[in-house]
Amino acid sequence: MPKISSVRPRLFNVPLDEVLVDAKHGDHTFFQLITTTITLDDGTEGTGYSYTGGKGGTAIKAMVRDDLAPFLVGREPDAIEDIYEKMLWHMHYVGRGGIASFAISTVDIALWDIRGKRSGQPLWQMAGGHGNTTKAYCGGIDLNFPLPKLLESIRGYLDAGFNGVKIKIGQPTLKEDVERIAAIRDLIGPDIAFAVDANYSMSQAQATEAAIAFRDFDLLWFEEPTIPDDYLAYARIADASGIPLAMGENFHIIEEFEHAARWSKLSYMQPDASNCGGVTGWLKAAKVCADNDIPVCSHGMQELHVSLMGSQPHAGWMEVHSFPIDRYTKRPLVVENHLAVAPDSPGTGVEFDWDKIADFEVF
Ligand SMILES: [Mg+2]
Repeated sequence: MPKISSVRPRLFNVPLDEVLVDAKHGDHTFFQLITTTITLDDGTEGTGYSYTGGKGGTAIKAMVRDDLAPFLVGREPDAIEDIYEKMLWHMHYVGRGGIASFAISTVDIALWDIRGKRSGQPLWQMAGGHGNTTKAYCGGIDLNFPLPKLLESIRGYLDAGFNGVKIKIGQPTLKEDVERIAAIRDLIGPDIAFAVDANYSMSQAQATEAAIAFRDFDLLWFEEPTIPDDYLAYARIADASGIPLAMGENFHIIEEFEHAARWSKLSYMQPDASNCGGVTGWLKAAKVCADNDIPVCSHGMQELHVSLMGSQPHAGWMEVHSFPIDRYTKRPLVVENHLAVAPDSPGTGVEFDWDKIADFEVF
């Protein structure tokens, strides 16, 4: 059995084509990509990764380099679930989420890449094997777009072959949000799935008022109306409005998914393998969803989640995020007949085009 001989994290600040804005995180001019490449002593290599909105990347890289790499070198790569548990406990005192979950995610994804390469299996098969396609929607980071530009952007999503869209909300007044939502429903008609995302910018009272105002527009869901840690507020908003709610991108440990499933009356959950423990963490969250009859969705890094979503019988909708990580891989996301299609190559099927990102590396 080969053993892990090196663990190499890298950090890239990847510029965005234009400034992207949501209600809580301000302007995005670039995103951070953190890759971890694991090499075995027989030469086999696998790469995992995470991303951020522009902060935290140096800490994630440092944790992989200084804390996880020494812990991993010399271990056999196959017992991924065991390594995953051990990494959680290794970092537990400073972890239980946050930076540690991002760092562990990069390692876990690299180990799944290696598992697939060694066994000849693509990720969608290893992760469950239900299928290799998933419903997908485009998630805009478009709070700052004036209405004409917003509508143009939505038209672009439909032209690209998608039948689901999402916009950011959290304009200065609820009236403005409602006007934008009404204009989009008008544009797309009744058959396109349409979600909105407040990035937890509202109080429970504001979110309840907004949710009630959104009832006329047949929304797929209202995402992160309020602070994700207030599990019971979600249940109250759902009860008062009847609007389907979604969250999950800010849950980094499995207990948070369990609490939300128990208390929040969610219609969808959206784990992100880049920050909830990689493939292993995402599959654990997907199991919590299955056990609670909640469709599992995803947030960000569509080039990887397409395989995870395809693999699960209870998958909902995959987000096609506005940080275009897949543009820097050898297989940008494939969409056919409105469905995203998972790669069939052994491993995660996410192979970076290192030349394309070389200039963005931060040392
Ligand atoms: Mg979101």
